[in-house]
Parts: sequence; C-alpha cells; structure tokens
Amino acid sequence: MCGIIGYIGQENVYPILIQGLQRLEYRGYDSAGIAILNGSLKVFKCKGRVSDLEQHVKDEDISGTIGIGHTRWATHGEPNDRNAHPHTSMNGKFVLVHNGIIENHTELKTDLMKNGFRFQSETDTEVLVNLIEYFYSKGEAIDGEMAIRLALSKVVGAYGIAVICTKEKDQLIVARKGSPLVIGVGEGSYFIASDASPIIPYTRNMIYLNDNDVAIINRQGLILKTVENIPAVFNITKVSMTIGEIEKGDFDHFMLKEIFEQPKIIEETFRGRITSDHSTIILGGLMDVFPKLLSAQRIIIIGCGTSWHAALVGEYLIETYARIPVEVEYASEFRYRNPILTNTDVVIAISQSGETADTLAAIRMAKANGATVLGICNVVGSTIARETEGGVFTHAGIEIGVASTKAFTAQVTVLTLLALKLAKENEKMTQETYQCLIQELINVPAKVQSILQKHLHIKEVASKYKKATNALYLGRGLLFPVALEGALKLKEISYLHAEGYAAGEMKHGPIALVDDNLPVVVVAARDDYYTKIVSNIHEVKARKGNIIAVVTEGDNNLNSLVNDLFEIPESHPIVTPILAIIPLQLFSYYIAVSRGCNVDQPRNLAKSVTVE
Ligand code: GLU
Repeated sequence: MCGIIGYIGQENVYPILIQGLQRLEYRGYDSAGIAILNGSLKVFKCKGRVSDLEQHVKDEDISGTIGIGHTRWATHGEPNDRNAHPHTSMNGKFVLVHNGIIENHTELKTDLMKNGFRFQSETDTEVLVNLIEYFYSKGEAIDGEMAIRLALSKVVGAYGIAVICTKEKDQLIVARKGSPLVIGVGEGSYFIASDASPIIPYTRNMIYLNDNDVAIINRQGLILKTVENIPAVFNITKVSMTIGEIEKGDFDHFMLKEIFEQPKIIEETFRGRITSDHSTIILGGLMDVFPKLLSAQRIIIIGCGTSWHAALVGEYLIETYARIPVEVEYASEFRYRNPILTNTDVVIAISQSGETADTLAAIRMAKANGATVLGICNVVGSTIARETEGGVFTHAGIEIGVASTKAFTAQVTVLTLLALKLAKENEKMTQETYQCLIQELINVPAKVQSILQKHLHIKEVASKYKKATNALYLGRGLLFPVALEGALKLKEISYLHAEGYAAGEMKHGPIALVDDNLPVVVVAARDDYYTKIVSNIHEVKARKGNIIAVVTEGDNNLNSLVNDLFEIPESHPIVTPILAIIPLQLFSYYIAVSRGCNVDQPRNLAKSVTVE
C-alpha cells in the first residue's frame, strides 16, 4: 500500500518520478505527488491518479536532479489534495513521503502542538515530518540525519520513508520498519522505491533494506546504519526481472495478461523442482528443514485474502496425501489471538509480495514462540522470504493486477509439490502413485492453455450476468477454496456481492437467497464429491436459481440442469483446483469489464497490503 519513489543523480528527476509512480500505482491511487529540490523546494500533489498529477504540473518548472514521489492508499485522512504526500514540515525544512502507519500519531501531535506546531492535513505522516523538524530545531549539533533517527526512535508503527532536508541539498535519506524499501544502485545515481519494478529500467543492482535501517544517500555513495546509529552492512542483489514483465503488452489489462501467463508460470514454478525422469520432487529451499516438516505435530498455514484460499487448498492436499495435521489461519487473527504454539509446530506463511504486514507480524510471533517458520512467497528478497528459515518461491514474476490470479495458481502448484513430497517421504504414497501424480502436475500447463482458448465463450456467458447484484459460489472438498477464490475475484473487481460457500452448508442459510435472479456458480468437476455436489445443483435448480457450472469435459449429466457450463479437461483431483479457478478468473474479469470497472485498480483496494 502506497508507492514510494525517489532519485538522486545526474538525470532530470521528473520523468523518473512519474514513470516510477505509474509502475507503483497498483499499490494505491487515492492521490499522487512529487517534491523536487532544485535550489528551492517544489511540491506538487493532488487527489487522484498519476495522470491527474501530470496534468497538474504541466505548466510548472519541474527541473532538478533530486526528488521523491508518492502514490497513496489512504489510511489516515480522506483522499484529497491536502492529505496527499509529500508532506512538508511546518517551516519547510523537511519534505517526506511515507508508506505505513504512525500508530502513536495522536500523542505525538498533541505534544508537537504544545510546542507551537500547526498542521495542514489529517494524516499521521505530517506528524512524523514535523517531529523530525522539531528535533532538527533543537540545535546545530543535530543534522538532518540525526533528527530523522531521533524522530523514528519515538515512533510506534510501521514506516518506509524517503526524506529530503532542504538545508542539506545533495542528500536523500530513507528508512524502513515494517514497510518495504529498495535502493537501486546506478552510476553516480540512486533510485528508491517500494519495490524493484520502477527501478529495473535503470539498474538491476538492488539493496533491500532491513527493518530499522536508515540509509543516507548522496551522488557519491551511501551509508547504512540503524536508527540507533549503529553501522550496518548492505548486500547488493542482482534482480532478474525484465521490462516486459512490467508492461501490459497487447493486453487491455494487467489482470488479463496475468491470467494468460498462467501456463508458463505454473511450468516455471515446477520446472527445476522435478527431476528429468519425473521420479522425484526436489525443494531446495526446504532441504534443511524437511525433517522438521516430516516430524511436525502440526503444520499451520497462514495467509490473507487469496493466499489464505491457497492455504486451504494446501490443507486439503497435505492432510489427504501426507496425513500430517494441518490448520489454516488468517494471519490477521493468528497474530493477535495468542495461539498455542510449540517447537514441534511448523508455520508456513503464504504471501505474494512477501511484505504483507499481518503475515509478517504473525511469523515473528510464531518464531518468538519457538515454531519453525517457512515461507511461500513470490518476491525474492522480500521481508518474509528473508525472515523465514526456509521456503519455496513461486516463480510467478511480478503481479501487477490488484486481483491476484497467477500468484494463486503458482502458490497452489507449490503446495501440490509440497504435499506430494511429504506424502512420499512420509511413506504414505507408493513410488508409482507419486510418479503418476507428478505427471498430472506436468500436464497442467497444457490443460490451462486449453481452458484459456475458450475465453470467448466465458466472455459471452459473463455478458448475461453483468446486471446481477449478488452471486453465490459453491464447491466441496478441494473445490471449496476454489469457490471462495472465485467469489473473491468477482467482489474485488466488479463490486458485485458474491459469497463463496461449502456446498454442503448451503442448506444452513444461503439457500434462502436462491431465486430466479441469483446466479449460482457451482464448481462441479468430477472428483470424490461429485455425486454430492450434483445433489446441491438439484437443490438450487428446484428453487429456480441460475446455475453456472464448472464441469469436467464430456460430463453431459448436468446439461439439462444448468444454465451455463465452463468445461475443464479431465484430470486427477489433485490438480483440479488449478484448472477450475481459470474460468472463474476470466468470468470475473469479463463481468467487471462489461460493468465498466477499473479492473487493474479496483476502488478501495491496493496490492501488497503493507499496513494492518
Ligand atoms: N498513513 C499514510 C497516509 O494515510 C500512508 C498510508 C499507507 O502507506 O498506506 O497517508
């Protein structure tokens, strides 16, 4: 949430800031703003998108080679011009952009007001920039960097910040705790951003900041230390992301591009992890901790949103095949509810960005309680990836569409690999079955491709339901989390109210909603629950619901019962969740487009939830 960009170097800063903000806009789009220091300080900001900011500055002098920018996802104070970042301190000595929440902003603000400070906005961020100025004005012994560190030592909460002290003209200071920040190292130039995507057109050399780091950057180099003024070391990591990955290409939206990337992404995720004779799964990132996984009393999988749905698929897979007890928890609940944890528990955190604030806090709590903590993340170098004892990366590439699609199927692919490997090593599966199921996974990309080829049929069906106001999604077993995820996709991007339900629970409430206006999406691929879900379809039909069913190719039993069908290729149930979600992603996408919704930037949402 919130995108931060910054630059110091020889080039004109404005295009670097604007292009960077465009790349980061998926993180928030309530307002946008920039500050450029060129002799004097110039700040431009306004409510709305980066394109609104471009209009806003079109006749202004925007020259300069040092600057910061921000695209906001508001937490404190409504989205308007005043609350937009950058925020300037009362006497103009500091200008700052911030991602995160200053939790003790009320107390700090009261104290600052007693000291004569006045505020322009309702944000927590403006409190921080004034607190920095407060320390700076204490005397000449305190320079900009020290003032920032003193202020940060008083702050409770999370921050990623980029700050310019207008009295120290050739310097940019950045710091982080809880919110991500990356520094790109160029030649005589440095780039700051919330993630690497806006930096890669300029350099692939990145420094990922750790919590509590403060970096003091000028054109000649950078110094890294902690908030407590202890020198810190940094590593430069080379990232492999390409520019093509961060552009839409011929697709209308990032979400559509990412849906269509799935055959490749799924293959990338298992490629190199299955031996060439297809006989063994190798998960290098879990090698050292595998004995702990095998002997775990319990595996607890935590996540938020779509990652939580992937976790549910993981629970069903690991319990079914490896017979190890698994629990799934929302990270936001788990971190606060004082769960019972021991050193025989293994916690697996799933997060696309690897920065999800609740998931990060939950793994820290689990570690402190002695559990072994592992990660399934997409972003290499992310905080969760760094703070876990081991893990498996999903190789989904950067996901820009706010509604997650390819990250979900990549997460489920990893969980399938994990369940199979655990089953085999736990002696719950013969080598023959193991190899047969590995082959099922290898066949998935081609099957996903064949579903994508039917996108025009899905588009046509979607156009029939675009005027609906509610929808119910039903599934059983491994397809229950798919129903949840399908409903979430529809809610997120089309603003239609959609509920995902375990089909067997329907008669305990949701059936009261069924009438001839209600679309009911039933995930009814052939598996061990098939006859049960067919009964549920009959129950909906008897109440005149409009049924859209995801079925296995060649299943003609349901033709007379359902209004519309999405077919998926026949496969073993272990891989059906990956196949069954594909038509539902496309269904949501086409409904949202036909309702005129902004698919890549749905209202109120942002990618990478780095605030609580
Ligand atoms: N708390 C700051 C604001 O509301 C930053 C929000 C964020 O990082 O999402 O402006």
